[in-house]
Amino acid sequence: MLITFYGAVNSVTGSCHMITTGAHKILLDCGMYQGGKTLEAQNTADFEFVPSDVECVILSHAHVDHCGRLPLLVKRGFKGPIYCTDATADLLQIMLPDCAYIQEKETEWANRKLLRKGEEPDLEPMYDQNDVNETLKLVKPVLYDQQIDINECIKIVFNDAGHILGSAITELFVTEGEKTVKVVFTGDIGCTDRPILRDPVKIKKADYVIMESTYGYRLHESNEKSLSELLEIIEKTIKRGGDVIIPSFAVGRTQELIYELNEFYNNNEHYHDFLKDVHVYIDSPMAISTTMVFRRNAQSFDDETRKKILEGDNPLDFPNLHFTKTSAESMLLNTDPSPKIIIAASGMCDAGRICHHLKHNLWEKRNSIVIVGYQAAGTLGRMLVDGEKEVSVLGEKVAVKAEIYNLEGFSGHADRDGLLDWVSGFKTPPTNIFLVHGEDDAKDNLAGLIKNKFGFNCTPIHGITSIDTDEDGSGMTMEEVEEDLVDYEKVCAVRDKILGIHESIEDLLYSANLAVGEKITSQRLADIANIVAELEKGTINLGMAVTEQGRVNVNHSGFSDEAIEKMAAEAAAAGEDEFDK
Ligand SMILES: [Zn+2]
Ligand SMILES: [Zn+2]
Repeated sequence: MLITFYGAVNSVTGSCHMITTGAHKILLDCGMYQGGKTLEAQNTADFEFVPSDVECVILSHAHVDHCGRLPLLVKRGFKGPIYCTDATADLLQIMLPDCAYIQEKETEWANRKLLRKGEEPDLEPMYDQNDVNETLKLVKPVLYDQQIDINECIKIVFNDAGHILGSAITELFVTEGEKTVKVVFTGDIGCTDRPILRDPVKIKKADYVIMESTYGYRLHESNEKSLSELLEIIEKTIKRGGDVIIPSFAVGRTQELIYELNEFYNNNEHYHDFLKDVHVYIDSPMAISTTMVFRRNAQSFDDETRKKILEGDNPLDFPNLHFTKTSAESMLLNTDPSPKIIIAASGMCDAGRICHHLKHNLWEKRNSIVIVGYQAAGTLGRMLVDGEKEVSVLGEKVAVKAEIYNLEGFSGHADRDGLLDWVSGFKTPPTNIFLVHGEDDAKDNLAGLIKNKFGFNCTPIHGITSIDTDEDGSGMTMEEVEEDLVDYEKVCAVRDKILGIHESIEDLLYSANLAVGEKITSQRLADIANIVAELEKGTINLGMAVTEQGRVNVNHSGFSDEAIEKMAAEAAAAGEDEFDK
């Protein structure tokens, strides 16, 4: 087996790796490069492999630096399935059309520029909505923890990565001959104890690990500290008559910010009076549909958030929260004098409506710009974090007079200690841990720490690299694979989930009893009845599967092995062993 690292090898963005066996070529992620012209030029370059040779794609999550080149892969001949979690599949329906839209707009803009120069306006977007539609047809949603045979020799399991909704750490079991090699692909690893999302799942065993290293060289402050800083910034800025601008991707941090602000608008005595006149605008055409996706995928939320929902409190909504859908509404925000917080995409300030808000607000001292996510080198966001005094926004030079804050505690990525904590989950040393998705010093630093702390082999990947795994003799037998797939904790986790469902149903039953006799629409009754029908089917199937498990070691006739052997011996002795003939 070969593991080849094609993307996210020199920087954080452009995640793309391949697993090649004698018979199969599997791609892990197909992300876009972000951060400056040179890097972004790689997006339209040829793939280092033939797209039609790729059998399938396994996608870790819906961030553009992991999925953004999928439509190009399809445009250039890929026709196989794209496996991802069901929440990622839902998010792709929003993210990929948006990507195509941004590219179509940028191309239009560049062509107009050419025309003004007197040149031929012949630029074409990297891909368009048609390519996106073809890509979405190939998406195969899978649930967390399900074992999926993607072909006769490769099995995958998605585990929660706790990074954004739907993000997955993938276990791949690759069987060649007598040997199974297990590869773990982390995608992006999230932080523990974050709102809405569950903690990243630790993996106990692997032959090879492909691991992200974004914050491999430093710690970021805690979520709590960043949150109290954010509230201080909001108070200070609003009191001096300014606005607070927060660049954030429509998916992920934005929903967490809504969740946290919801808490303060509702429950905090100190801020309650002050905040009641401060409006929060989620300025994104995607934000409403994204929030719908969140509501549809509440099964992936952490316990606390699910409990709130079952109690009838929507944690992603509060009275001062507004969604601006059209660009006219977005423009009105820049002329409206009332105090406000604007959250807009893109998170790295390199595209989208945030650019307009920065153009209108950066040059005024009274405003604050709050960075809440990782800023790749070369992006406008990174320039602001690095303290540039003048930047170019939408082709115009703008002075940076507003206060710039960088609150890393909101980051969706585990920091150095978070990454080391995740590595501590391995109970036996992996043959090798390959570090990708980080700047050079982050990868090198983390590799050193992993070697020192755990004594594990760890290789930072610099540039396109291919590793032949047949050379080191690692791998598991069938029995070891079986043991790894069915350990005691996994069995307990399934039982706990059944218990959790039981409790939720009890709560719901109480509400349902209260609701009987209330007037509801036929549509709502149909929605509820459909979900109940699915639940009923699921419960029966679960019942059969659980009771069947107790019979695993018993043959179907129900006679004991001893009795059968005895009868067979007696029959043979009496010359009756040819009974069947
Ligand atoms: Zn990500
Ligand atoms: Zn990433």
